[in-house]
Amino acid sequence: MTRAVLTLNAGSSSLKVALFPAAGDAPLATGIADRIGPEGVLKLVDTAGAPIAAAGDLSGHEGAMAAVIAAFRARWPGLDLLAIGHRVVHGGPDRQVPVTVDAGVLADLEGLSPFAPLHQPHNLAGIRAAMAAFPGVPQVACFDTAFHRGHPFVHDTFALPRALYDEGVRRYGFHGLSYQFIAGELAMRAPALAAGRVVVAHLGNGASMCAISAGRSVASTMGFSALDGLPMGTRTGQVDPGVLLYLMDQKGMTAAQISDLLYRRSGFLGLSGLSNDMRTLEAAGTPAAEEAIGYFIARCQREVAALAADMGGIDALVFCGGIGENSRRIRAGVAGGLAWMGLGLDPDRNAANARCISPDDAKVPVLVIPTNEELVIARAARVAVGLG
Ligand code: AMP
Repeated sequence: MTRAVLTLNAGSSSLKVALFPAAGDAPLATGIADRIGPEGVLKLVDTAGAPIAAAGDLSGHEGAMAAVIAAFRARWPGLDLLAIGHRVVHGGPDRQVPVTVDAGVLADLEGLSPFAPLHQPHNLAGIRAAMAAFPGVPQVACFDTAFHRGHPFVHDTFALPRALYDEGVRRYGFHGLSYQFIAGELAMRAPALAAGRVVVAHLGNGASMCAISAGRSVASTMGFSALDGLPMGTRTGQVDPGVLLYLMDQKGMTAAQISDLLYRRSGFLGLSGLSNDMRTLEAAGTPAAEEAIGYFIARCQREVAALAADMGGIDALVFCGGIGENSRRIRAGVAGGLAWMGLGLDPDRNAANARCISPDDAKVPVLVIPTNEELVIARAARVAVGLG
């Protein structure tokens, strides 16, 4: 019998999955059901990266989940699913830890959908589908907001009338599962740095940074939504709200059109007119692609400095995410431009994608740590069933 926990990350048209054993960090299998709908595709691989045969009805999330489980059961007959952990974007103002989901919790989380309308409903649909498929198996919700809920008031609020804060219009911050993983890794690999003031830059298709002081999140570049802060693949990052008023008043754009603009047509894609993908921009070399890269680096530099100010200084910078873990150019641009703050950059180490890309004697070391949000979810699922 194979005892395991499953992690699920349900998006609008995708379902990312990972199957972890009851103990240990390496998954038994990972995969994604992508383009769920008429053109759905399902790819599963085992620890060695070998494909796991999978097929089924990919027209909806429930069918995709059934196809994943059927494939895992065929591969591991006697598979005993102990718990299912879900990535959920929003836990609201009070949730600081994962929670085992029952009908009451689910209703409560549904009430948060207006705060994250593009993500929360899909995450919850994933939980509902898993509850229906596995009625007796504990479902554990892990929140992208939870790690940040200890922020001091000044980093939790906007300067809006207090009543809006009270009803939940706050700076939540996201990517919390990633930051929790990095904080844990840092505590193991470099405890002295982990006890200090660290800026973590999660730079992927979605991008944010977090100020972590003595292991606790103090401030985040993301705010009420996952739009604020850094420019991203297709999202704006910080934008003057006056621009949105202009679009509404002068151009007659609706909320849905503005949402589409801010989430899907801006960022690297909007600036370059070419692509949302950093690799593509780096290879393109067109003036607009170069400007998009330049804007990203400039905003990253500004946010590192701002978050350092929030902590009264900086003892280390950590890069993670697809761009942070792979793009030598972005890392060199960001860290190189912050030498005045004491950040070090060793070009050879950076070129080699080393875990430490600063010289040994750097005042502020710069590290690269691959993130692992699935493992954070799997660990929470294990803890929920007494295996932690
Ligand atoms: P993520 O959302 O964390 O998977 O990150 C996706 C982003 O990482 C995309 O913009 C990719 O182009 C970027 N990325 C991945 N590998 C590289 C690379 N070798 N160089 C530059 N960007 C990369």
